[in-house]
Amino acid sequence: METIREGKVKIKIPKFKKVSSEAPVFYNPAMKFDRDLSVIILQQFQKEINKEISVADTFGASGIRGIRYFKEVKNVNKVFINDIDETAVKFIKKNVALNNIEAEVSQEEANIFLRKNRGKFDIIDIDPFGTPSPFIDSTLYSAKRDSLLCITATDTSALCGTYRTACIRKYNSVPLKTEYCHENAVRILMAFVAMNGAKYDKYIVPKFSHSTKHYVRLYLKVKKGAKKTDKCIDKNIGFILHCNNCFYRETRAGLSYQHPSECPSCGHKLHVGGPLWVGKVYDPEFVKEIRKSIVSYANQKILKFIEVCSQECEMPATYYDVHRICSDLRISAPKIDKIINSLRELGFRATRTHYSPVGIKTDAPVETIKKVIRKLSNATHS
Ligand code: SAM
Ligand code: ZN
Repeated sequence: METIREGKVKIKIPKFKKVSSEAPVFYNPAMKFDRDLSVIILQQFQKEINKEISVADTFGASGIRGIRYFKEVKNVNKVFINDIDETAVKFIKKNVALNNIEAEVSQEEANIFLRKNRGKFDIIDIDPFGTPSPFIDSTLYSAKRDSLLCITATDTSALCGTYRTACIRKYNSVPLKTEYCHENAVRILMAFVAMNGAKYDKYIVPKFSHSTKHYVRLYLKVKKGAKKTDKCIDKNIGFILHCNNCFYRETRAGLSYQHPSECPSCGHKLHVGGPLWVGKVYDPEFVKEIRKSIVSYANQKILKFIEVCSQECEMPATYYDVHRICSDLRISAPKIDKIINSLRELGFRATRTHYSPVGIKTDAPVETIKKVIRKLSNATHS
């Protein structure tokens, strides 16, 4: 047996050789960052709805998430921890007792668990192995008005476009294998959740989202109403048109499939990705409040991460990879902050992005970005 300390909890799990779905009970220390961040986001959500909340940890494994939510988020009055696996459930019960908390522990297939408990949870956490796709319909069926969905996907090779057909099968969306594919991954999953909610007259309001190489995580508030659901789809679901030749890209809201086939900037073929979420992937006010609430937080990685998210949360969709542009222009890359400052001096908005350390979000046209990069690169090397 191994003892693990994380946040304010201590858990026990069977000894394991490496982090894998083959381990007797799954625990990944690398996801501590994600669990720390989840605690912060759940707390902000609780503050926003200002009442006691119930939380469902649908894929419990060791129970670490559910137990941490109960112990570390104020005003959580009930936690449900579920897992399909017998050994996992044995350890969840052990860990619930070890941490002196009360929790309703169950051993159900996630879809059954969600359907049986319709309307019971203020927060539903979905953290399966790989794709969440088979659980999204039940999640939206189960979700009540004004609740929060926290959804993880680790099948980034599908969402980012390495496995195009897997993305079409699982998310009913054509991915684009572009330099901003991690952002597309967030947008594809978000649109899939929104479309699954729509049949129940439920629509989503994104509160927070992020993506790294290994996973995508969404935090979505659920609202109800047929008319508002129609409006939400109309405004937020659409396509991205992308030119591989000159980095031009454009987002289009709406489900019309008539798109120009030529790049308006260079005349090459335009690729179409989607349907995906083209609206905001954050609630900027929510992000600002999170930033305020963690000014003296000890974890520097979280602080820096939230700082970047608070800069980019009002920026347009997609970002530019400075290294890709420089390699195309056959010049060396200037410093990211210098490019951002130059774009701002020209009157454009520009920020870093959490999706990539060499990424820039800006509303400047691609030709302006190239001009700025060329000028800075020449200045450094002349
Ligand atoms: N949330 C955990 C954490 O933060 O450490 C990790 C969850 S782990 C990635 C996925 C868990 O889902 C495993 O414990 C597995 O037994 C369970 N599981 C797999 N398929 C399931 C299903 N259809 N219904 C419920 N649980 C399932
Ligand atoms: Zn082009």
